[in-house]
Amino acid sequence: MKETDLPCSECGAQVVERIAFTADLPVDGRGSVRVAECLDCGARYYPNQTVRQLARQSTDARRRRTAER
Ligand SMILES: [Zn+2]
Repeated sequence: MKETDLPCSECGAQVVERIAFTADLPVDGRGSVRVAECLDCGARYYPNQTVRQLARQSTDARRRRTAER
C-alpha cells in the first residue's frame, strides 16, 4: 500500500504523489525526492523511502563538511 492511497490526515482530501527538490526542504543534500501532497490543504507526507533517503543524504553532507575542514 502506498502513502498516496491514504487520505490527508488534516482534511481527508486526496493526496497525490509529486516530486520535491531537496533544496525546497529543510534538509541537506541535493536532488529530488518523492513526497505525497494534499491537493486541498497542501499538507506534505514523506514516504518511508524518502525519509530514509533524506537521512542518508544528510549524513553524507555532514561527513563531507567534516572532511573539508
Ligand atoms: Zn489536506
